[in-house]
Amino acid sequence: MSDPLDSARAIAAAVRSGSVSATEVLEAHLAGIAAHGDAIAAFNHVMVDEARAAAAAVDAAVARGDDPGPLAGVPIALKDNLCTRGVPTTCSSKILEGWRPPYDATVVQRVLAAGAVPVGKTNLDEFAMGSSTEHSAFGPTRNPWDLERVPGGSSGGSAAAVAAGFAPIALGSDTGGSIRQPASLCGVVGVKPTYGLVSRYGLVAFASSLDQIGPFATTVSDAADLLGVIAGHDPLDSTSIPDAAADLGPAVAAGRNGDLAGVRVGVIAELDGDGIDADVRAQLDAAARAIEDAGGHVATTSVPAVTYGLSAYYLIAPAEASSNLARYDGVRYGNRVEGATTGEMMDATRTAGFGDEVKRRIMLGTYALSAGYYDAYYGKAQRVRTLMQRDFAEAYASFDVLLAPTAPTVAFPFGAKDDPPTMYLSDVCTIPSNLAGHPAMSVPFGAGQDGLPVGVQVLAPTLGESVMFRVAAALEAAAPLVGRAPHAAPPIGGVR
Ligand code: GLN
Repeated sequence: MSDPLDSARAIAAAVRSGSVSATEVLEAHLAGIAAHGDAIAAFNHVMVDEARAAAAAVDAAVARGDDPGPLAGVPIALKDNLCTRGVPTTCSSKILEGWRPPYDATVVQRVLAAGAVPVGKTNLDEFAMGSSTEHSAFGPTRNPWDLERVPGGSSGGSAAAVAAGFAPIALGSDTGGSIRQPASLCGVVGVKPTYGLVSRYGLVAFASSLDQIGPFATTVSDAADLLGVIAGHDPLDSTSIPDAAADLGPAVAAGRNGDLAGVRVGVIAELDGDGIDADVRAQLDAAARAIEDAGGHVATTSVPAVTYGLSAYYLIAPAEASSNLARYDGVRYGNRVEGATTGEMMDATRTAGFGDEVKRRIMLGTYALSAGYYDAYYGKAQRVRTLMQRDFAEAYASFDVLLAPTAPTVAFPFGAKDDPPTMYLSDVCTIPSNLAGHPAMSVPFGAGQDGLPVGVQVLAPTLGESVMFRVAAALEAAAPLVGRAPHAAPPIGGVR
């Protein structure tokens, strides 16, 4: 029996030392996908050929005595809104069906250069608009904890792929919660980094001032390692922060040792009341006690503007989306439906190509930006954004990190939130960090109703990843054990 290869770290160490090959690791994961993939529907496309070639290249590097990198031989799942050269990138929209990008997103380049093996492109709500993957044009992904429930969204495919053991790590994007909320619902770790820490080059744009790419993993230290690989300045993204690096190793080690001495943690009062399920609140309380046991100081604090976060987000995000999605005109990308004139062709293409939720956002955004309403809606929403930053700054004058639920509920059944405002409420706890540009992450902490996983959210100020990961690692170390998702592939322990 070899050691269990149950984390990205364990796999990379084993591959680098030559005790297992990247190809063996990959084939074990592909077997898991073959056996359980259809039930979960996490992938739009499994990259069998590309993955085998990448694994063979890692094995050749090891054979030559070269270091293949910190993610050597680690299978990774990629959200299908990240450009992959020559590989379909659909955003789970019919309008992009058949489009193959001519380049890799910067994050894709970086994980490949670090030795990771890309196993597939994961399902999402169309153009990342949603909280359940039910808005995917290709059908929903199922939650590995309960096949009758959603995995969350929009990065539901990435979260489910990690929870199901199809890959130990994945990348997603988070505009209003799309990494953290599905991580919470699937019982995995999910991180939205500081805006600008990770390059957005090659991420298909939804709302550019809010979008950020980040990791999914089964452990806090795997998430830290992956963030270390993808973070850093990129001249191809004008909003990329210069000189921002993320060595989170020492912070994670301190947290794992249960050392939160001197760390001040504020529980956001506005997100710990009405609208949050009792079972989620109970785990939040338990998490606060675990932080105190580790020597942290916990108190309740107020961030009044979070109450307006949802309203501001649903003006700003659709406004930016209405502009970003203007490029799908039947000429430059993917599908085209012919028409008698250019205008009719564009109309027909967009009518057939976009789903209802995307159309709803484009109409909302166009309205919010129209001359007569700009000040009343878009302008006011931007002022709320400033208020949000001010209120967070006030809280961070007294606290190092803030604590809140990630999502108001555990995973919900398909169809349970079929009117838009009810679905939008899924993101009430995550949206404030996007509006502020701050980092935040979800850590699994115990179970709620029906034994389904609950996530606790750690929020930090701009570039506060280090203390955020320290608290997250301490929470992970103290979290009640909930085990593995019942519909996951078996662990790939004794590969040989
Ligand atoms: N669920 C939110 C929305 O529908 C957030 C999506 C995201 O973060 N991409 O807009």
